[in-house]
Amino acid sequence: MTAFEPVIGLEVHAQLKTQTKIFCGCSTQFGAPPNTHTCPVCLGMPGSLPVLNKKVVEYSLRMALATHCTVPGQNRFARKNYFYPDLPKGYQISQFELPIAVKGYVDILVNGQARRIGLTRIHMEEDAGKLIHDPKRPISLVDLNRTGVPLIEIVSEPDMRSAEEAGAYLRILRAIIRWIDIGDGNMEEGSFRCDANVSLRPKGSSAFGTRTETKNLNSFKHVEKAIQYEIARQTEILLDGGTVVQETRLWDADKGQSFSMRSKEEAHDYRYFPDPDLVPLVIDPAWIEAVRQSLPELPDQRRARFVTDYQLPEYDAGVLTSSRELADYFETCLRSFNQPKVASNWVMGPLLGLLNAQDRAIEQSPVSADGLAALLKLLDQGTISGKIAKTVFDEMAATGKTAEAIVKEKGLVQVSDSSALEAAVDQVLAKLPGEVSRFKAGEAKLMGFFVGQVMKATKGKGNPKMVNEILEKKLKG
Ligand code: ADP
Ligand code: MG
Ligand code: ZN
Repeated sequence: MTAFEPVIGLEVHAQLKTQTKIFCGCSTQFGAPPNTHTCPVCLGMPGSLPVLNKKVVEYSLRMALATHCTVPGQNRFARKNYFYPDLPKGYQISQFELPIAVKGYVDILVNGQARRIGLTRIHMEEDAGKLIHDPKRPISLVDLNRTGVPLIEIVSEPDMRSAEEAGAYLRILRAIIRWIDIGDGNMEEGSFRCDANVSLRPKGSSAFGTRTETKNLNSFKHVEKAIQYEIARQTEILLDGGTVVQETRLWDADKGQSFSMRSKEEAHDYRYFPDPDLVPLVIDPAWIEAVRQSLPELPDQRRARFVTDYQLPEYDAGVLTSSRELADYFETCLRSFNQPKVASNWVMGPLLGLLNAQDRAIEQSPVSADGLAALLKLLDQGTISGKIAKTVFDEMAATGKTAEAIVKEKGLVQVSDSSALEAAVDQVLAKLPGEVSRFKAGEAKLMGFFVGQVMKATKGKGNPKMVNEILEKKLKG
């Protein structure tokens, strides 16, 4: 049987969070009554002239530099011509031959494997309006508030090889957009949208197969599902001896299937041409430099620094820098508890587990970075045991109290008094003569069992290190 390798390239549209639209002064605010954020320019009235919003260029430059793109400096806006009721001008202003940025990359980490995904280009464009289909009457309404809202389109190289890699790539892109503060990257609300191009080729082949493009993917989960679906669909066609048709498909989230929307023959010919209303845009290298200087430390720089400065594994560094806020949280915690790997384990384990379960972002964490550091200090000083620390953490999350207060209140201080622990060990061993003789006859693995019994007898408060030592002494001495 032929084994196939999936080839995936993504086109991502990200909304930029400017106050005003790309070519007019209308507000970009979401959720206003229909058609209240409009003017002759974004309504496409004849004779009105677009004026480029400088912030849009600045935000696009931020993205370009954060994704290691080249900024050619020579920009041109182009008209992409098509008819649709949500597009009053009959064309969308976009960029075609001379986009703002080309040839970048982002690094992803999937199953412990680092991969570099190339970016073909980033270009600026305006969004179209929105059709509202009246459920009660056979009519559709047009809301043009969104017309002219600025977008960047980020086109990847066909560098991804699995749905998982595509998901990782998208997450990184969104993380960067949020990190450099140019957009909110919200897929459900449509400010971060993705079309997935998928093809298959025989493993080992270097030529590309015929691709399809799946649209209407509005969550990370659905992007991955739709890609898996498409890989399975194309595999079946090819194994049956058929050929994949180049087409655009539409994902139906409820059915978990995609359906053909139009074939290549029906594809639009957009007749791109330079927009005569907008002068060519030349970006001064000094401006590019100034934008570069204004960027914060970027996710991949910070990830690399976490590995070298804190000796963290790549994986930990990747998770901890998945958002700027999480990275800040971690470093705040380190300021008062400087054991990076211990802190990393607690952030990635109990903390992220809790936030996931409660569907909260790190900014809304019920346990502050300083609070966590205080807990880890109690653990490190031996005041509480590891097991108790987890209980205290849960209690901190539930009540908002400090670790110290909870430990005091509930009498959770670790028992490190050797005479008390010796007594506990003696009691446990006295009850288990059978196991003791088996241990003495060579069943060394019973040690763990004894430790467990003593910890149980001390309600988890015994200092594990001391319990071990005392057991060793009693059993072997
Ligand atoms: P179009 O507008 O026709 O979709 P674009 O150049 O905007 O063309 O986007 C093409 C996208 O499809 C890119 O992300 C690219 O990586 C991807 N792509 C191109 N060829 C293939 C292929 N054979 N298999 C999978 N993806 C592909
Ligand atoms: Mg496309
Ligand atoms: Zn307007």
